Amino acid sequence: MLTIEELSKTYAQNGSPPACALAGVSFAVPRGAFVSLLGPSGCGKSTILQCVCGLMRPTSGHVRLDGRDVTSPPPEMALIFQNAAASLFPWQTVAENIRFVLRRKPGSKKDKEQAARQALASVGLAAFADRYPWQLSGGMQQRAALARGLAYGADILLLDEPFASVDAQTREELEDLLAAVARNQAKTVLFVTHDIDEAVYLSDTVIVLTPPPAKVAATITVELPTP
Ligand code: ADP
Ligand code: ADP
Repeated sequence: MLTIEELSKTYAQNGSPPACALAGVSFAVPRGAFVSLLGPSGCGKSTILQCVCGLMRPTSGHVRLDGRDVTSPPPEMALIFQNAAASLFPWQTVAENIRFVLRRKPGSKKDKEQAARQALASVGLAAFADRYPWQLSGGMQQRAALARGLAYGADILLLDEPFASVDAQTREELEDLLAAVARNQAKTVLFVTHDIDEAVYLSDTVIVLTPPPAKVAATITVELPTP
């Protein structure tokens, strides 16, 4: 269980008054759940994700993973940004990008190659391991970023508007791919979006945030009829 307790964040700003981005945000993400954070641009969604994965210190409040305080990025979390190209090294192929994040992980070279191959296959990129990021479409770059997190063994995927800069058809493909990966590989997902349709389509729970400073305005349990 991932618990976010009374998270507050105030940004110090040069020459202007401090900006309060989060004003006591609390919610929980149970193992295996798919939870979306929904709110308008600028409401504090990225700030929440960065605090959740320990990249940023909240001004007050706690993030706990199975009871332990998260103060630096835990190995079981992968963060995927809107712009995958910004997180993949352009001078490395897709396979090399994955090898790079696996280099410090314990395990044999053979096991790591196997994990990389499996992860690439699960996102439909088996045939693209030796391409450079700039040789791939935006959607394929996002798949590669996802594969890298999966190869590392992340159980918790944090995604910050991951499909905001791809075309509508690619976006639908990526939504279905993410839903399938989350279901088949029993991942826990915290998904940030400003698109209510996307949030409802993908999630078990939608957490609606207020305009800044962010607080939880509503928590919605999604029950879609099974087709
Ligand atoms: P969202 O992801 O919902 O678009 P952000 O978390 O990026 O929102 O930003 C929330 C608010 O905090 C915005 O008003 C933004 O301008 C402000 N903010 C974000 N990062 C910083 C920063 N490093 N310094 C100052 N203000 C920031
Ligand atoms: P998004 O809405 O996609 O999250 P933003 O424009 O809110 O993107 O933020 C992009 C980056 O810029 C984030 O890393 C955020 O922390 C930083 N940022 C946003 N607003 C400010 C600000 N007022 N001052 C400094 N950094 C900011």
